[in-house]
Amino acid sequence: MKFSNTYSQLDSAFYQRIAPTKVAAPQLLLWNKNLAQSLLIDEQITNNHNLLAQYFSGNQIPDGAEPMALAYSGHQFGHFNPNLGDGRAHLLGEIIDNDNKRFDIQLKGSGPTQFSRQGDGRCAIGPAVREYIMSEAMFALGVPTSRCLSVVITGEPVYREQVMPGAVVTRVASSHIRVGTFQYFAAKGDLESLNTLTDYTINRHFSHIDINAEDKIEQFLVCAIDKQIELIIAWMRVGFIHGVMNTDNTAISGETIDFGPCAMMSHYHSGTVFSSIDKQGRYAFGNQPHIAQWNMARLAECLLLLVDSNQEKALEKIEPLIIAFNAKFETAYFTMLANKLGLNEVAKKDHQFINELLELMQKQQLDYTSTFAKLTDSLTDTDIQDTLKQQLGDWYANWLTMLASKNQSAQTAKTLMAKNNPLVIPRNHHVEAILAEYETSGQSTVIDDFLEVLRSPYEQLKRTSQFQDEPKDGDHQYRTFCGT
Ligand code: AMP
Ligand code: MG
Ligand code: MG
Repeated sequence: MKFSNTYSQLDSAFYQRIAPTKVAAPQLLLWNKNLAQSLLIDEQITNNHNLLAQYFSGNQIPDGAEPMALAYSGHQFGHFNPNLGDGRAHLLGEIIDNDNKRFDIQLKGSGPTQFSRQGDGRCAIGPAVREYIMSEAMFALGVPTSRCLSVVITGEPVYREQVMPGAVVTRVASSHIRVGTFQYFAAKGDLESLNTLTDYTINRHFSHIDINAEDKIEQFLVCAIDKQIELIIAWMRVGFIHGVMNTDNTAISGETIDFGPCAMMSHYHSGTVFSSIDKQGRYAFGNQPHIAQWNMARLAECLLLLVDSNQEKALEKIEPLIIAFNAKFETAYFTMLANKLGLNEVAKKDHQFINELLELMQKQQLDYTSTFAKLTDSLTDTDIQDTLKQQLGDWYANWLTMLASKNQSAQTAKTLMAKNNPLVIPRNHHVEAILAEYETSGQSTVIDDFLEVLRSPYEQLKRTSQFQDEPKDGDHQYRTFCGT
């Protein structure tokens, strides 16, 4: 493992240097071979499960790692908390992968830090495995995301509502810089660090921006906004609900991070929310774009300080960039849905046509994933056509007419649809069943099959059908918890 650390070269205001707390009896539970290969981790290490368990529990620090807990703030459900930070995570350092991209390697559940407050610094097996499964599924679905390299069980209990086996999950992300990192320094009025952070972030994520350009801050903000738009569009394409889009969980890289109470939408409804603590539906499926814009406005507020000492002038430059989110998002959103319907592009006058499908799905409680998969198949399967005619009535016939009027052959449309409509998603009931297995017996009989299918979500594999079934009640009773 070859570390090449840059965040540790920043000022000590950015982090606390602290080693993980050792655990009693680490054992490797899940190991992501493909990811390890792309990170150029030696086969010698990869084949030594004991050593992996030592490294990825935090018991042994690999050469070149410089463990630290990162400082950040965050708006949690709209309320600002200036002092969050990694309360149970340790950044080991950075590795450059086989594609020459830089990645953070972070342990989560690896012990308390100065940011822990009341927390124990630990993670239970369920949330660790959930993060592994969900991030692997999202990656294969083509959604920007952090990934998991491993889950190691610690041999120690963690005390939650019930006593659970403890685990450390290793997360790989293109960085852990969040909106909340900017807020941390802005809230302190530490402009020097804010400047350093901005330049560091531009260098690391948006290196095409000229660091000496007069409008580099505006350029940076536009890039960050565009990444968020891409992210939310990708989430909505596959029916993902993040569940806790606090600004401390919003990565500037535009990757999905923090898979706490996340879930997949079954029956289409824009108001779908599963998280038990999200009583107001702040982070409901259809509210995610609005929240992403809100989070970007919080980032913009921090950057105002750097744009112009005259805050009115700064606002004049920055505010239009936040307002532009809406139009950009709308275009990208309808293009995404058009692609799901086999159309390369969509005119504004046809937005209503797309909305009608969503309204029909909502009214008839149709499964989001299955409906688009059926629409795809219906282009070549007349049995499915009949079902869809019944469910969607005139809309279905109008859709076929529209495809024909665009001079698109059924095959062209089908190819586009097959790329945008997954056959299989990590359905909540399957994920929960596997977590329950791990929680009760420490192992799972189906995880390998499930992961294999999730890794090829657009392909019909031998076992795909085993995981395509819709939840019996459309997940109406399903609840998720801020898994710790
Ligand atoms: P999250 O809800 O996972 O985004 O976490 C919000 C904040 O709580 C972050 O600062 C975490 O580091 C901290 N946190 C969450 N769980 C724990 C824990 N078990 N021990 C210490 N800190 C925690
Ligand atoms: Mg978090
Ligand atoms: Mg969390």
